[in-house]
Amino acid sequence: MGTSSAAPLVAELRSRVTGQVVGAGDEEYDAARRVWNGIVDKHPLAVVRVADEDDVVAVVDHARTRRLPLAVRGGGHGVAGYGTVDEGVVLDLGRLAGVDLDESTGTVRVGGGARLGDVDRATAPHGLVVPLGVVSQTGVGGLTLGGGVGWLTRAYGLTADNVVAASVVTASGERVTASEAEDGDLLWALRGGGGNFGVVTRFTYRARALPDPLVAVEMVYTEQRWPHALRAWEAWTRELPDAMQSIATFIVPPPELGAGDEPLLVLASMWADPDDGAAGERFLSELRAAAPPDEETPESDWVAWQSAFDVLGGPGRRGYWRNTSFDRLDDEVVEVLLRRAGEQRWAGTGIDIHHMGGAFARVPAEATPFPARGARFWLNVYGAWTDPAVDAPRTAWVRAVVQDMAPFSTGGLYVNFLGAEAGDRAQATRAVYGAGPLERLAGLKRRYDPENLFRLNHNVPPA
Ligand SMILES: Cc1cc2nc3c(=O)[nH]c(=O)nc-3n(C[C@H](O)[C@H](O)[C@H](O)COP(=O)(O)OP(=O)(O)OC[C@H]3O[C@@H](n4cnc5c(N)ncnc54)[C@H](O)[C@@H]3O)c2cc1C
Repeated sequence: MGTSSAAPLVAELRSRVTGQVVGAGDEEYDAARRVWNGIVDKHPLAVVRVADEDDVVAVVDHARTRRLPLAVRGGGHGVAGYGTVDEGVVLDLGRLAGVDLDESTGTVRVGGGARLGDVDRATAPHGLVVPLGVVSQTGVGGLTLGGGVGWLTRAYGLTADNVVAASVVTASGERVTASEAEDGDLLWALRGGGGNFGVVTRFTYRARALPDPLVAVEMVYTEQRWPHALRAWEAWTRELPDAMQSIATFIVPPPELGAGDEPLLVLASMWADPDDGAAGERFLSELRAAAPPDEETPESDWVAWQSAFDVLGGPGRRGYWRNTSFDRLDDEVVEVLLRRAGEQRWAGTGIDIHHMGGAFARVPAEATPFPARGARFWLNVYGAWTDPAVDAPRTAWVRAVVQDMAPFSTGGLYVNFLGAEAGDRAQATRAVYGAGPLERLAGLKRRYDPENLFRLNHNVPPA
């Protein structure tokens, strides 16, 4: 069925949902079919902007019974572009973006289609925060289900570690609650297993204390100072308390920042303990003394800090990402990273080294499917360029950096920092989780989605 002959399907969907159904030929179709990653150019039969959970059940039911490919879209920021599909139906959760704070239980209920900024703007005025990612337009849906790494990971763990319950519509259209009390297996699977197990219409998160006043800074280094700064940063990270989170980024600043076209190293760090901001300042002074930056930008407001990196990944960028975990940042590894980082003479790619550990590392490996909790660092090599003509070289460069780091990898891949790969998808998923967790995920997939309706994701085939 081509998009032009989709009219009966669109009409039928319209009769079943209260939300908006956008079909080919509708004025909004072009905007509605697109996702963050501009390389992904698909033409669905219909995009359903669901209004409530009943709509979700209706769309799931419709796709299952009509055997139509189903793409579930949260914030549409999945790097692999699984939030849209050719010749199928997109279930767009974007209107389920409500955020309800329950101060009596210290929890926050968030719609499955909310963006990170929706949560921050609602919780910060109440002195509370949910550990999320670092770019405010990213969707909570994909971010949480894949893991969720951000400024509070060492202090409180992944976003997924902070989920206490999730409302899920399974492949059969059943509504279930995943929580320790009601379905601990499903909750386990949702903490890193991606969108394989159903549509999450609402997450309930444990809220944490807002870092207020915020102690955060970006320290910037020009290329000749990289070797010293990176080694000083590595030494500094060895003895840090959980409250300090730091990311080392090698990047050519995007032109809109007007910061020149030379590659820079940015050491961005944030202190999460609101009761002892002075200690945070002390630790940052130590880093500053060990590696005096060429420039620095402090930030004192949480919501502003949470969107400080937005400029790196605006919508419509063309993206390809790869990642790996590693433990050593000694001379051999520093040499590899600096050589690759220095090659970047273009804006549109970047290398992030996330310092991990802390509360993230103390979550037992078997408590979630998320891999490599013990690794000291996660490397994310990413692209967000605009010119289609450079798709091939930028993608090849991202691959090459991670390839060079392969000898130092401690195993596991983070699904949210992964582009779509051609080839054997089952093998790719095994590389993500490892054999043991994958086996458990596959067993749960058989229970919740035996026919693999939810397959537009880093797919776990049913066992
Ligand atoms: C600019 C940018 C910045 C990023 N920054 C960070 C960061 O700081 N930390 C980090 O950890 N990650 C980060 N990521 C990665 C991000 O976590 C993933 O791209 C994530 O998948 C985005 O979720 P989404 O809902 O926006 O995407 P979508 O494309 O909508 O969804 C991604 C996948 O999740 C599924 N899904 C989404 N919502 C639901 C739901 N409610 N129920 C069931 N399945 C669902 C989809 O079907 C799809 O398979 C970033 C990505 C981008 C593009």
